[in-house]
Amino acid sequence: MLKREVKNAWEFEKNNLEEVMNYSDEYMKFLDNGKTERTSCREIVRLAKEKGYISIEEAIEKGSIKPNDKIYAVNKDKSVALFVIGQNELQKGMKIVGGHIDVPRIDLKPNPLYEEANLGFFKTHYYGGIKKYQWATIPLAIHGLVILNDGTKVDICIGEDENEPVFCVTDLLPHLSKDQNQKSLAEGIEGEKLNLLIGNMPLYGEEKESIEKNILKILNEKYNMVEEDFLSAEIEIVPSGKARHLGLDKSMILSYGHDDRVCSYAGVKAILDTENPLYTCVALCVDKEEVGSNGNTGMHSRFFENTVCELISLEGDYSDLKLRRSMANTKVLSADVSAGYDPNYPEAYEKRNSAYMGHGLVLSKYTGSRGKSGCNDANAEFMAEVRRIFNQADVIWQTAELGKVDQGGGGTIAYILANCGAEVIDCGVGVLSMHSPYEVVSKVDIYEMYKGYKAFFNINL
Ligand code: MN
Ligand code: MN
Repeated sequence: MLKREVKNAWEFEKNNLEEVMNYSDEYMKFLDNGKTERTSCREIVRLAKEKGYISIEEAIEKGSIKPNDKIYAVNKDKSVALFVIGQNELQKGMKIVGGHIDVPRIDLKPNPLYEEANLGFFKTHYYGGIKKYQWATIPLAIHGLVILNDGTKVDICIGEDENEPVFCVTDLLPHLSKDQNQKSLAEGIEGEKLNLLIGNMPLYGEEKESIEKNILKILNEKYNMVEEDFLSAEIEIVPSGKARHLGLDKSMILSYGHDDRVCSYAGVKAILDTENPLYTCVALCVDKEEVGSNGNTGMHSRFFENTVCELISLEGDYSDLKLRRSMANTKVLSADVSAGYDPNYPEAYEKRNSAYMGHGLVLSKYTGSRGKSGCNDANAEFMAEVRRIFNQADVIWQTAELGKVDQGGGGTIAYILANCGAEVIDCGVGVLSMHSPYEVVSKVDIYEMYKGYKAFFNINL
């Protein structure tokens, strides 16, 4: 065909809608069970164990690996890699679908608790790129963990069950917003105004700091914690509530955290369906992407490479050369979301190179900003290979840039694995209202993504 035909995935899947909807239902459960990187990691391990995966520690204990062994490796409870060992040696390369499970949110500061004007608050510091005004006046929940002075780890979760309280960030009433209305959207609610409202009642009998003391009393009864324990805690504020069907036709999902649990989950589902592959397949779900992939749980850490070292050593005899070959011969789908074309804001997009909702999986040859700065620009040869795999597997796919040239931009973990010599391309789905408390995806797009990732693992040209 001379002209490329743009296909509508809903049209293509019209006889397969039950499977499309079932996939979404499972994904929505995953979203509800994992609202932080730690709980997402835990949920992925649970799904893997259900399918017979063993931990890398157990594999080391056994002393060897063989084709079709299924192994998971967890990094500090915040990132996880699932492996299906291939028939080929690791030095022939791997096939990786790599996404992230951290999400923009609001974190508590180390000294969070204070009271003013009879109201109790937590001080916060946001994580990742958020539009701050979107986080005011919506119900928020508290998730995370506290490590007590005796070393006990305590999980914290308040505000998800309908019988539990929720929390909020306040905003000024319109009647008194003359000055605020003159500010830009970015400055309308400033970072230091994202204080979480948590109480109004005093601890009876206390004269000073009585609201703070009452909050501490409640936390002590529930979690056995004292104020100093905030210093050894990771507490995240996220939108309260579950993922919801969106639209009269229930064709979309409205939820916190699609970026990037939607791609991470598709990678996990695809690998759980993969048996006896030629190349070792990996679903990789990392932390810290939203703040630059640094730290020992981000993609820049040696965790993944170290795990590959362990696997090479379990194959027989380890050498540095084998490790380098295994990374350089690897092929990666950098599983991350793209900006879905929003007809309410056409000025931000270039309509011939945008991700349309319902047009399936999105391939982005490059991301970056201002002249592709900072991007991984996938090689045409690899783009050609991925395109042939998707076409062979009847995956509905499209290509997109992240918005108009010079409008902004973004990045993913793509360049990090590419720096080790791997072939990498960005490959995910379009999202509306990305990085907002409630993001939107199309159910048929996420199904095409799962199909595409599975094809990538299982088809070798
Ligand atoms: Mn993001
Ligand atoms: Mn992302």
